[in-house]
Amino acid sequence: MNPLVFGLFSVGFLCIYNMRPTRSALAISLSYAVGALSFIADLIFQDSTLLITRVPIAGLYAITIVFLVGGLFLHYKKAAPWKLLVGLTVVHLCVYGYLMAIEADWIRSFSANVGCGILSAIGLLAFRGNLDRTLDRVMAAIFAITSLQCFIRPVAIALWVDGPLTQANHSETTFIFTMHFVVGACAVTTGMCLLVVFSRAIFNDLRDSSVTDVLTGINNRRGFDEAGSLVLQNGAAQPVSLILADLDHFKSVNDNYGHAFGDGVIASFGALMGDYARFGRVAGRLGGEEFGLLLPGVPLSMAAELAESIRRRFAAANIQPGEPRDGFTASFGVAQYKKGESLSQLMTRADQALYRSKDCGRDRVTCDTEIPETAAEPARNPRPVTSATVRKLPVKYG
Ligand code: GH3
Ligand code: MG
Ligand code: MG
Repeated sequence: MNPLVFGLFSVGFLCIYNMRPTRSALAISLSYAVGALSFIADLIFQDSTLLITRVPIAGLYAITIVFLVGGLFLHYKKAAPWKLLVGLTVVHLCVYGYLMAIEADWIRSFSANVGCGILSAIGLLAFRGNLDRTLDRVMAAIFAITSLQCFIRPVAIALWVDGPLTQANHSETTFIFTMHFVVGACAVTTGMCLLVVFSRAIFNDLRDSSVTDVLTGINNRRGFDEAGSLVLQNGAAQPVSLILADLDHFKSVNDNYGHAFGDGVIASFGALMGDYARFGRVAGRLGGEEFGLLLPGVPLSMAAELAESIRRRFAAANIQPGEPRDGFTASFGVAQYKKGESLSQLMTRADQALYRSKDCGRDRVTCDTEIPETAAEPARNPRPVTSATVRKLPVKYG
């Protein structure tokens, strides 16, 4: 049964690697593949007491654990301790081989298990600082049990069930049966947990890509709406302001320099907006060449200043070295959130201000209302809201 189960897990992780190529998925797929081979070899040579068959089989079991532990480290973005794992495997096989050679039956069987126990105990180090989620804690517990049972099981079974082990009775003992059963159970549970963890990562990737604009790397409309609504629901983030921006005469930019160049200008402006998406601020590309920046903890006066700084930086930007510098400007509309209104109502008011900027000659910032004389103090620590990671683009802004 074990070779089949291990083989299926290996294929499962290979499929995951195919969907989301990570070295951890590959290492874990290899681990289960080698695990399947170990059990097959063990079955074929179960009656063999030759050093030349037992040591390589012990080696296969050890390599299974080495890949699994390495894969875990890689999964948690840590450097895998390959040298340590390989070094321990060599020592483990030398000790095991020596004990076989001198026909020390009892200790030989224990040494095979203890070697594997030490190797899997190293996997526990991969969980350091990564025990926030229940699934990680469950996996750490399974790993702890897996390595602990390698120390306890052989002694317990030999003492209370089988009595002295010899190479001759080895394959018929409860010892070997429980080994296959317990190792199989641990491997299945670990594999199931890992499959869930990897599937969750794929799901998160899909979710991120569904809210991220491909050209600019900031939120798309959907991501902006989702993150923006969360900001407005967060009472501690008040006051909240919104900047809307629309690139000026963009049809002529496309007509004069081509669509691809136009894309570059949009990407540059997206990168500039992304620069401001810190401290829980949400930047997004809302349409073709229209952008939004939602600012929790920022009153209208400060938002207007920020919009003015974005306007200046864009107008002065060296969009693409060697290309004409002039002619790229944007118009801005700024509004402050009023309690009880929705994000779309706030956007409508900022949009109206933006259109006043367009009507008044473009390349300017207009506020929805007069800026109050005594502008409210910005909230000091607005609760951050997740927004898509901003892809840095090679643009020089002043
Ligand atoms: P205005 O100053 O009034 O905003 O003038 P405009 O020419 O920018 O007018 P408008 O905003 O209506 O036009 C937007 C243009 O942006 C139309 C479309 O060809 C172009 N555009 C929209 N999306 C993209 C895009 O993804 N890439 C490129 N290169 N151009 C785009
Ligand atoms: Mg425009
Ligand atoms: Mg437009």
